[in-house]
Amino acid sequence: MLNYPNQSEITYFNFFNYYNREKNMAHRITDECTYCGACEPECPVYAISAGESSYVIEESICVDCVGYHDNAACVEVCPVECIIKL
Ligand code: SF4
Ligand code: SF4
Repeated sequence: MLNYPNQSEITYFNFFNYYNREKNMAHRITDECTYCGACEPECPVYAISAGESSYVIEESICVDCVGYHDNAACVEVCPVECIIKL
């Protein structure tokens, strides 16, 4: 069973990740997004939110699911394959 970090751990991790962002690739949602919302609850670091016309990944927060999943969880569930790796 996965143990997701609590909010304070997330904050610390995001701070750490911010200063290590050069090393991390991120994912991005393209304009093909159909606004289905399937990806948002799958992100272990809460990097995905609803934007105005599509869902959005905060690239400074996305960790490519490293340490959580073998593959990007958002990519796995997106029905229209509109999440790309940068
Ligand atoms: S790749 Fe993982 S960490 Fe990055 S936005 Fe998708 S689900 Fe979140
Ligand atoms: S799963 Fe894909 S289509 Fe659905 S909201 Fe996320 S990016 Fe958009």
